[in-house]
Amino acid sequence: MTGGNPNRRPAEHAAPTEATVKQLYGTAFRCGKPDCRLPLFRLDNETGDRTLNSRVAHIHARREGGPRWNPGMSGEANRSGENLLLLCIEHSYEIDENAARFPPEMLREWKGAQLAEHDQIQRSWHLNNEEVAEASALSFDPHQMSIATASATTVVAAARAVGKMVSVGRQRRRLAHQAAQAWQALRLRTNRMMPVFDMNGDRLTVEPSRAETKPYQEALDRALADGQAELESLAVDVVAELHVVSAVDKSLGPWCDWVERQVEELITAAGRWPGRPPTEDDQAWPDAVAELQRASVTLSAAWRGERRGSPPEAAPAVSGPVETDEQRAVREHRELLESAGPWGRVGTVTMTRRCTHA
Ligand SMILES: [Zn+2]
Repeated sequence: MTGGNPNRRPAEHAAPTEATVKQLYGTAFRCGKPDCRLPLFRLDNETGDRTLNSRVAHIHARREGGPRWNPGMSGEANRSGENLLLLCIEHSYEIDENAARFPPEMLREWKGAQLAEHDQIQRSWHLNNEEVAEASALSFDPHQMSIATASATTVVAAARAVGKMVSVGRQRRRLAHQAAQAWQALRLRTNRMMPVFDMNGDRLTVEPSRAETKPYQEALDRALADGQAELESLAVDVVAELHVVSAVDKSLGPWCDWVERQVEELITAAGRWPGRPPTEDDQAWPDAVAELQRASVTLSAAWRGERRGSPPEAAPAVSGPVETDEQRAVREHRELLESAGPWGRVGTVTMTRRCTHA
């Protein structure tokens, strides 16, 4: 890293004092991440008991090579309240896991807002000695941290992998949509260029020939298949993380299963287009996205202990018979006729009008 003696031990500052931890909790109420409203302790409405729901995070890491490590910082400054930020458990790991996305300036801004909020609402946490010791141990003790990190990092990693699937899936869906639009444009062009009228003088719908539509159909099929393939490879990461989460914390197993099922649903939806010749996309894809996101957010909530009960049951597998080529040809032909319907109706209206004038 620094090119010096490779055997040199990395520098490490002392942990913040308990007095500092006490003072931090006395001037903050909620997680410092602005879009997160979680209180630093969770309250049980029935018993009134409170459970620590937060960690003391370092803006500049304590250990050399750690997140946002600042080599010029003194030990005193490193463990002072200014360098520390209270965050909910999930976000305390997130800022270290993705340190590049959370630069020190941003975290200092959060801290400023957290203090300002306390000034305004005058709510904070007055910790007893046991609570101070617990918060310090969970935040600074490397052994405790490694246990907690095992489930925290995997839950966060699973959520991130789901987020990636959704964003890649959306990009891919746009490509499929473009392919469908190009196909549709061909149909409109064909109709404009080849006006055909029936015996009554009404205009008929003309479909492009199979040879003309073939490349467009192939492009749509390819866009769908490519999207599906890419999501399948991303799903490998999600599923791997989910299995680790279940292994570390068995109570989360059913929630992980739910996310896994929704991952499958998303992949199925990605390979599907509502009609041929192309019609507008339907709700199946956005529904699959929303459901996967819901499952993923709920898994995180279950891990934070905010969620009791159990996830929705898996729907009984309705693996319908797979469409044969012949069935598909028949269906596509029927869809073609249906799509020509509106044009036909225009003709009928014209005819009716002509009759009234007669
Ligand atoms: Zn938070």
